[in-house]
Amino acid sequence: MNASERGRMVVPGDLLGTAEEFVPGRGTYEHDGRIFAALLGHSSVDPASRSVAVHALHAVPVLDEGDLVIGRVDELKSAMAIVEILAAYPSHRTVPGTPEGTIHVSKVKDGYAENLSDELAAGDLVLARILQSRPSIKLTTAPPTLGVVAARCQRCRGSLELAGPRQELVCPRCGNREHRKISTEFGGRTAPPPG
Ligand SMILES: [Zn+2]
Repeated sequence: MNASERGRMVVPGDLLGTAEEFVPGRGTYEHDGRIFAALLGHSSVDPASRSVAVHALHAVPVLDEGDLVIGRVDELKSAMAIVEILAAYPSHRTVPGTPEGTIHVSKVKDGYAENLSDELAAGDLVLARILQSRPSIKLTTAPPTLGVVAARCQRCRGSLELAGPRQELVCPRCGNREHRKISTEFGGRTAPPPG
């Protein structure tokens, strides 16, 4: 296979090349100096890194460090939030088995967060980045683009909206004001409102 053969359909076990030609990437494995497809999908070669990869058909997102995900805050503990990971972002492909990840209080925002409950609430949808994928998934929402993208009023379950010059979260139904570590994507097309 050479770089011009991008998108060739391969099945698991197909020979993609040798370890001298290529670096084994996602969806491949190396055996005895040869690189094989591990998945049914399309092969591709990154010319810069000489990495060969197989992109699965109906790809099941593989969660890796650095990936962005959309999750729903399930529960707040004293020092961490438990998040159900729903989909990869921006593909919105659902993650099978909805694995759990955690956001430690030190990773929820830039700077010191005294109480996690001032930054997140159960039911919030968050855009987060994977800091560590194994053995457990650890997430951060610290950068400005990350954080809560949709949230409901803790009092009446209305959808919170940004309002006023300071762009505070306000419930249009009951007037309740709440605080979250919001993403710059809040209310955007990142995610549907939490159900
Ligand atoms: Zn309300």
